[in-house]
Amino acid sequence: MRTPIVAGNWKLNMLSADAKALAMDLVPLVGASETVEVVVCPVFTVLSPVSDTVSGSKIEVGGQNCYTQQSGAYTGEISPEFLKDAGCQWVIIGHSERRQYFEESNAFLNEKVHFALNSGLKVMYCIGETLEQREGGTMEDVLRAQVTEGLAGLEGAGFDKLVVAYEPVWAIGTGVVASPEQAEDAHKFVRGVLDETFGTAVADAMRIQYGGSVKPDNANELMSQPNVDGALVGGASLKANDFSVIVQASASTVA
Ligand code: PEP
Repeated sequence: MRTPIVAGNWKLNMLSADAKALAMDLVPLVGASETVEVVVCPVFTVLSPVSDTVSGSKIEVGGQNCYTQQSGAYTGEISPEFLKDAGCQWVIIGHSERRQYFEESNAFLNEKVHFALNSGLKVMYCIGETLEQREGGTMEDVLRAQVTEGLAGLEGAGFDKLVVAYEPVWAIGTGVVASPEQAEDAHKFVRGVLDETFGTAVADAMRIQYGGSVKPDNANELMSQPNVDGALVGGASLKANDFSVIVQASASTVA
């Protein structure tokens, strides 16, 4: 039995007053969740106040990116040490917006995954195909490369601190959600690649979140797919009530 994990990716949204207010609203709604892990990933500048606000609840906090050096002359970067210092337990690595706008390759993301895990952070590693890749028939090759290259060299305990987020790029922020069947098929395929590459124990235990236009009205069907183990939520995570409904949808698959 895999414990579902629902994370909110706040992206580049929520100035400090709004971020603190959202965190405060989330605590009574999802802060005591026993059956689903809940994580929020705000902008770097509000990590500390958000961590302070949710401390004492079960909500954990993550950064949206990190670099492969801990400190030094790396202007504009953030590292696992600094994320942990600001109260993070998690970091998102390989979000499609990082891949797309900042040209982060599977090889570079692999370095990031290792560095973050070795630094004591838990990692949400994102993968997903573009519409062009899906329609062009290369979706499976793309997903396979993202898994095998991005997670290359991981073993043993590293996998316990990692979750994979399947996020079809065409569904992120578009309102076009994958159908439950499309999500389940892709998750099953990814679990198969994990099995071939890292073995059955790793594949069976790995949580695979779905991300891409998850909303309160589609969460139930998506979360009830057998290979979907929670969600990575963008837009809907900015509204406490919507995020809470998605957490509850995920919880209902465990109850
Ligand atoms: C995301 O940014 O990871 C995401 C899934 O966004 P949205 O829910 O808005 O599609």
